[in-house]
Amino acid sequence: MPFAILGLADDLVRAVAAQGYTTPTPIQAQAIPVILAGRDLLAAAQTGTGKTAAFTLPLLQRLDIRREGRLLPPGRPRALVVTPTRELAAQIVESVRVYGRHLAPRTALLVGGVSMKPQFDALRRGVDVLVATPGRLLDHISQKTVNLSNVEILVLDEADRMLDLGFLPAIRRLLALLPKRRQTLLFSATFAEPIRQLSGDFMNDPAVIDVAPRNAPADLVDQQVHPVDQDRKAALLSHLLSAGERDATLVFTRTKHGADRLSRQLERDGIRTAALHGNKSQSARTRALDDFKQGRIQVLVATDIAARGLDIVQLPRVVNYELPHVPEDYVHRIGRTGRAGCTGLAVSLVSEDETSRLHTIQRLLGRTLPSSVVEGFAPSPVRRSPTAPASAAPGARRHHPQRGSSSGERSGSSSSRRPAGSGGAAGDSSQRRTYHQTRRVTTAGGR
Ligand code: AMP
Repeated sequence: MPFAILGLADDLVRAVAAQGYTTPTPIQAQAIPVILAGRDLLAAAQTGTGKTAAFTLPLLQRLDIRREGRLLPPGRPRALVVTPTRELAAQIVESVRVYGRHLAPRTALLVGGVSMKPQFDALRRGVDVLVATPGRLLDHISQKTVNLSNVEILVLDEADRMLDLGFLPAIRRLLALLPKRRQTLLFSATFAEPIRQLSGDFMNDPAVIDVAPRNAPADLVDQQVHPVDQDRKAALLSHLLSAGERDATLVFTRTKHGADRLSRQLERDGIRTAALHGNKSQSARTRALDDFKQGRIQVLVATDIAARGLDIVQLPRVVNYELPHVPEDYVHRIGRTGRAGCTGLAVSLVSEDETSRLHTIQRLLGRTLPSSVVEGFAPSPVRRSPTAPASAAPGARRHHPQRGSSSGERSGSSSSRRPAGSGGAAGDSSQRRTYHQTRRVTTAGGR
């Protein structure tokens, strides 16, 4: 189905074509006609489904932006997009510019961690589409540099995450400042009860679209569990990252300190890495993301919040260095790979103390994840595969690095993509023998 059939104007269809998109994604096919018709929309769609274009394209059309001679009152946006993280906000404003290239909408990006001055300047010039994180937006409102009384269209993006981050009071304050007559679009990965309540309070008979069963990660993601002792995780990660293709990899840690520590360790192991988390300055975060996208660094170590919504096309591999506390975050994390039709690999390094967390995730997914011990990294003998504590999990397999490679590297993720069936119980004596061999090879390789 081409984009034109959805009712989009030629200027927008051409912009989409220039991006190389030929067919709308399911959320686009369903949401665009609804939004063009002026209805409120409650949509369950995760990052990676094409949801940004799903709201940006019809939003631009409805604003009916003419190219020249428009006078926009300072600080009074016509459309407002509120989103939880700075990175996501930056990506959305970029999408507005890309999809609006033939319409030239005036945009402003209001996020924390950067100077207010350029934001004041952008607001003074008048704004069609304002993209903001809640805190900085409220700062501007209290300084009277933003007034929301002209907003025709409101988008709450990643609404579930905004609630998780404690932004509910901020959102309610914003809602109270908006005109009653407006179109409201709410995007969320889940339709959890607080989201339904919120939408019931401030939306007008919304159309409901649910394109992504929230607990079903894309089929294109190959998920792997590697049981390993906690104190061997960093060494195992270095080993996997140094092997094979040296794929770009997003690594998740639970804490900011953990991200910094791991990033330093990987750098010591000769792997080009940066950490991305909320304690980093905005310029450091932007630089890290840019370096990663341009391939100047191989690994980005991030916390859940910092990684939320990152749009990195064709990310081949995600590693859960630690499993998340909230099982749904596992689905969010691995949604960073296997996007836009490309296959991806999601690897979880799971230590004994994370066993119950893994079981909770598996319950959420409704399946047991394939588990394999990486040769040389068998967990201490007291434990077995955390996937199925009493016996090897169905589909469990052992991971066999290539032997005798001239570079001293061992294959990592690539060999683990083989079909199941070569496995055995973790922690046997042959495993422990190769543990020492691996350490020798690793040392000889200077890592
Ligand atoms: P999003 O869910 O908005 O973060 O989008 C995920 C990725 O899909 C982005 O890199 C978009 O550029 C890309 N994308 C969006 N719509 C399409 C489409 N119709 N065809 C191909 N790629 C798309």
